Amino acid sequence: MCIFSNNAIQILEERYLLKRKDGSVIETPQALFKRVAKFVSSNEEKKSFYEAQFYELLSSLKFLPNSPTLMNAGCKNGQLSACFVLPIEDSLESIFTTLKNTAFIHQSGGGTGFNFSKLRPKDDWVISTSGTSSGPIAFMKIYDAATEQVKQGGKRRGANMGILNIDHPDIIDFIRSKSSKKAIENFNISVGITDVFMNAVIHNLNWQLVNPRTKKVEQTVSAKAIWKLIIKEAWSSGDPGLIFLDTINKSNPTPKEGTMSCTNPCGEVPLLDYESCNLGSINLSKMLKLHNDIYIIDWKTLAETILLSIRFLDNIISVNHYLLPEIKAITSANRKIGLGVMGWAELLILLKIPYGSEDAIQLAEKLMSFIKKESYKASEKLSIERGTFTNWKGSLHYSHQKLRNATCNSIAPTGTISVIANTSYSIEPLFALAYNRVGILGRKTQTEINAFFLQKMKAMNLWSNEVESEVIKTGSIQHITSIPKSIKSIFQTSLDIPWVYHLKHQKAFQNHTDNAVSKTINLPETATIQEVSDIYMTAWNLSLKGITIYRYGSKGHQVLQKCSLN
Ligand code: UDP
Repeated sequence: MCIFSNNAIQILEERYLLKRKDGSVIETPQALFKRVAKFVSSNEEKKSFYEAQFYELLSSLKFLPNSPTLMNAGCKNGQLSACFVLPIEDSLESIFTTLKNTAFIHQSGGGTGFNFSKLRPKDDWVISTSGTSSGPIAFMKIYDAATEQVKQGGKRRGANMGILNIDHPDIIDFIRSKSSKKAIENFNISVGITDVFMNAVIHNLNWQLVNPRTKKVEQTVSAKAIWKLIIKEAWSSGDPGLIFLDTINKSNPTPKEGTMSCTNPCGEVPLLDYESCNLGSINLSKMLKLHNDIYIIDWKTLAETILLSIRFLDNIISVNHYLLPEIKAITSANRKIGLGVMGWAELLILLKIPYGSEDAIQLAEKLMSFIKKESYKASEKLSIERGTFTNWKGSLHYSHQKLRNATCNSIAPTGTISVIANTSYSIEPLFALAYNRVGILGRKTQTEINAFFLQKMKAMNLWSNEVESEVIKTGSIQHITSIPKSIKSIFQTSLDIPWVYHLKHQKAFQNHTDNAVSKTINLPETATIQEVSDIYMTAWNLSLKGITIYRYGSKGHQVLQKCSLN
């Protein structure tokens, strides 16, 4: 049986375990896993067999599904997916219908992405009233305000992705829309970038902004000037990120069903309008075994875990409660799922491989290509047992392989499930060795030393009062002379690692992920504007699907903070 960390217990009690009306908890973590395993096996012929298998999968913390599945499986609101994209057409009817649907998705713990580019620009003509339009940014603010209110009663903070394409006349206001610290807090924003625009930047050409209603050119600007503005804003606030629309659509598995213009809030799943996706992540720190006292990857356990996890995620599509008929239709026809990983940094540390090294990149390629291959094998097996996804015939997969699911893999941020599993986030390096964790939904800020690091340091007899006070002061061990170089290199933190290795990790995982990779390129406060420009340009050159940077201290609210700042 697994032992939960204090943080895990606190999070589970606050939001995941069932409660009586008076707020008292009536479920243990084990009972939660039983509830989920039972519900997710309810479509199986061999129900009790799979219920037991799924229970073992979850309670061993080898795999966890996205939060809405843990919260809602077997409950009245059985909405189990984390990721949605909803359309916004250029009409009040569409804007407010989607706003209402968004409220219900947020209430159930799901996150939503919108591309606002079909909306006519600010001060454009409104025929029905002979008035002028408010424009996409004004409506984004309304969505933001609604999200803020729904989060009070919902299961967790609703998250949004807001996208505006690079040729929209309001693009400059959009790029600046998050420059003041508290603006549009419930949105991540990204500029929808095309290859033509990137070439215009490189060759210093003019760029046309086009009214989506009239299709007329409203303004001609310098591509480089817009690029510089994007970079400056990203450097000072972390937003906007970029989403590379052409790259995303090159790997759209079902092009006949439409083009993809948007992702879910954290960017790991590009989706069609009304499409949803279920995520789940394998805990890599549980995929190791000891061989002659040295950790090695347990490929057999990993393969078995993938097989069962893909089945689990596919079942969710069958037993899910869909909030809208449109969501049910496209989700059931494509059956997209996203199996990813968490605990990558912990696995590297146990294997004694520095995150910022070519060995780590090679292992990332090897590991993720294995996960993709086994995921596709599992999905193919399911297609033989249960049939292919409905749109398979017109899909990119048709000439290669029978599949049950249009996509199989995503690398999610695992913001909560990695805390429950007590491992490192997603494919991210350790953020800091000591940090202040700002309370979620009003909880007190806590100072923490990374438990895994502490345990390893104590085991190596390297922990002392002096080391502790230095770690608390700086969050790092890189400057402590008494610690051997080999230990320093495996405990590099997010801010110790050169950005090029952050990007190389994103690329290595993206190479074998059919959806996308959620990754933050963390930068120290001293990073320059030119570095941010280089990172965004390199991301496009590497054919990544999107890019997000975060320069330390540049956001008003930051969940993890180095202790020294307080
Ligand atoms: N998400 C959300 N609200 C949040 C965090 C996440 O709606 O506060 C959604 C969003 O679509 C995100 C996805 O859940 O891209 C996966 O995020 P993460 O892996 O952090 O979720 P977890 O399952 O760990 O809670």
